[in-house]
Amino acid sequence: MGDLDDKSALITGASRSIGRGIAQAFGREGAAVAVNYHSDEEAAEETVEAIENDGGTAIAVQADVSDAEEAQQLVETVTEQFDGIDVLVNNAGILEPSTLDEMDVETWDQTISVDLRGTFLVTRFTIEGMLDQSSGRIINIASQLGIKGAAELTHYSAAKGGIIAFTRALAREVAPDVQVNAIAPGPIDTALLDDTTDEWRENKKAEVPLDRIGTIDEVVPTAVLLAGDGGDYYTGQTLSPDGGDAMH
Ligand code: NAP
Repeated sequence: MGDLDDKSALITGASRSIGRGIAQAFGREGAAVAVNYHSDEEAAEETVEAIENDGGTAIAVQADVSDAEEAQQLVETVTEQFDGIDVLVNNAGILEPSTLDEMDVETWDQTISVDLRGTFLVTRFTIEGMLDQSSGRIINIASQLGIKGAAELTHYSAAKGGIIAFTRALAREVAPDVQVNAIAPGPIDTALLDDTTDEWRENKKAEVPLDRIGTIDEVVPTAVLLAGDGGDYYTGQTLSPDGGDAMH
């Protein structure tokens, strides 16, 4: 018996890295998993295959979460396939470092669009179904930088801080039926950090009391906790697998 038997879950940005790790763990816990991706169909199919190889059920669904029509279509497709959505993980995110004095308006807009608007859009179209069924869990992947901020990441920090505030506001609005929480990981070794320099990574590491960059496997258990029975008494919270980077 798994913690998520008979549940269905939609995880955005699950073609790789943290989203894939959460999708696989949810599959192992018994959930039917919808693996959303934006551009990498092959990687999304690999996530699906990994879940199926573990004996689970999964489908891949393409959608740009920052596009309202695509986000709505995504939710409708998953709702139809799985007869509702019990757990939504808003994980899709992008990061493109830039100092503010050199930042293009497009770079700002795109980060806010995917990271913050995307979280709003997919939640907006999911929440009605959860309220109708009087249950649901929403887990928003924020970042420790939404709490402490970071140079060259004003746009990303603003989006992630927005996600934490959105989480708290929505948690109050939809309680007690739907529980809404955030996870604010510290620096995690994934493709998201590909564009950062060695110097940036070294500086990051030095800020973390546990003195290292974290791994995907060190984030995933928090998502499993918040989605399952262990998360029954959490709402509006931001849990931080971050090596102590942002103590709050
Ligand atoms: P990643 O390796 O870059 O993966 C990003 C995922 O998001 C991919 O599956 C990508 O799909 C998807 N995605 C990007 N734009 C999308 C869009 N417009 N619509 C739908 N999906 C989209 O990132 P990660 O490190 O796993 O990060 C996952 C989440 O954790 C993000 O929200 C990130 O901000 C947060 N986080 C990461 C760290 C870290 O250090 N890694 C720390 C704190 C928080 P395709 O590949 O198919 O395009």
